[in-house]
Amino acid sequence: DARIGIVGGGQLGRMSAMAAARLGFQTHVLAASRSDPAVQVCNDATIGPFNDTETLKHFADHVDVVTFEFENISADGLDFLASQRPVRPAGAILRISQDRLAEKRFMADAGLPVAPWHAVTTRADLHTAAETLGYPFVLKTTRLGYDGKGQARPSSDAERDAAFDRLRPHPLVAEGLVDFAREISVMVARGVDGHVVTFDPTENRHRDGILDISIAPARIEASLAREARAMAVRIAERLDLVGLLGVEMFVTADGALLINEIAPRPHNSGHWTMNACLVDQFEMHVRAVAGLPLVDPGRHSDAVMRNLIGPADVALCGEIIATPGLALHLYGKTDARDGRKMGHVNLLFPRGAMPGEFGIQAALGPLRRDDAPSFQTEPEDA
Ligand code: ATP
Ligand code: MG
Ligand code: MG
Repeated sequence: DARIGIVGGGQLGRMSAMAAARLGFQTHVLAASRSDPAVQVCNDATIGPFNDTETLKHFADHVDVVTFEFENISADGLDFLASQRPVRPAGAILRISQDRLAEKRFMADAGLPVAPWHAVTTRADLHTAAETLGYPFVLKTTRLGYDGKGQARPSSDAERDAAFDRLRPHPLVAEGLVDFAREISVMVARGVDGHVVTFDPTENRHRDGILDISIAPARIEASLAREARAMAVRIAERLDLVGLLGVEMFVTADGALLINEIAPRPHNSGHWTMNACLVDQFEMHVRAVAGLPLVDPGRHSDAVMRNLIGPADVALCGEIIATPGLALHLYGKTDARDGRKMGHVNLLFPRGAMPGEFGIQAALGPLRRDDAPSFQTEPEDA
């Protein structure tokens, strides 16, 4: 009858709370608003600003263990929560994932490869970065970026200067543009006892900077998949993780892996596990946070996850729900602004029977994209 406290009211908190309820736990959510997705499904909530001590105290008083789905709580706020209750994953991990420079330094210390990068605070740093990385490169704010926000890809001196002016005064990091063959991610969980499990690497495709579809397992060589899992395990162990963490990686044209970023929480690219595994990422997260044993996820199917973004995708829900084979997940958000994640759909195939692009698009029914990569050129696998 332990009570799990979840900092953050978004869909990741919502799905974590639903998994917790299934295991018989009570959940208490700390959210900014009553109408937030996680508040709708939890047992109890504290509504208030995340960085106010009174609010945090009230929240901590009502829970036995704290986790978070919202990554932008202040370090001080987390330290305060940690003085009241166990916080899993620990604040030290969040501090690394909140700051792209700390993240890159961590990877360097761990001997894990990342794209070439330069810290950029001054215009002189910017010029050095452009000279060493070449055009185009990627300029990112070190903090608070998500869904590709807070980023630019300058291709010339003029664009470089304009990007700098737009993204300042935030501290920035410049990265070499990776000519990746694929993007993949690995969800890794580590228990209180140090036992580690990983989910199959997932292949991710973005659209306008936002995750569009995930394909699991990723269509990569078995040896590369093993290497990706091993990197995720290494990260989890070096961080002394208790909880769940998503690791985003690039597969380069010559088949090498580079770490892009980490997120110490359930991850959008792990939503396919909700229908394709016996223990999905949310339950694995709850198990780790609650000190329960971690087991093999028991993936019984191959899966494709398609995000539902903004009003155009919401308008398809009537058709989606009438289509057999599509598992619909909605987050209970009322305001379907452009670019907002409203829900997702999972589509299953028997293990080992993932079709090619044409087959995937055909099975997506109302969600098919006629402009999907190589869609027009691979009709033979239909
Ligand atoms: P998320 O929503 O995953 O938190 P984010 O806003 O933190 O995203 P990143 O993951 O750093 O941003 O970048 C978003 C996407 O932009 C990546 O998934 C990738 O497609 C592309 N990208 C980012 N950095 C690079 C790079 N150095 N080279 C090539 N592509 C990149
Ligand atoms: Mg990110
Ligand atoms: Mg990312």
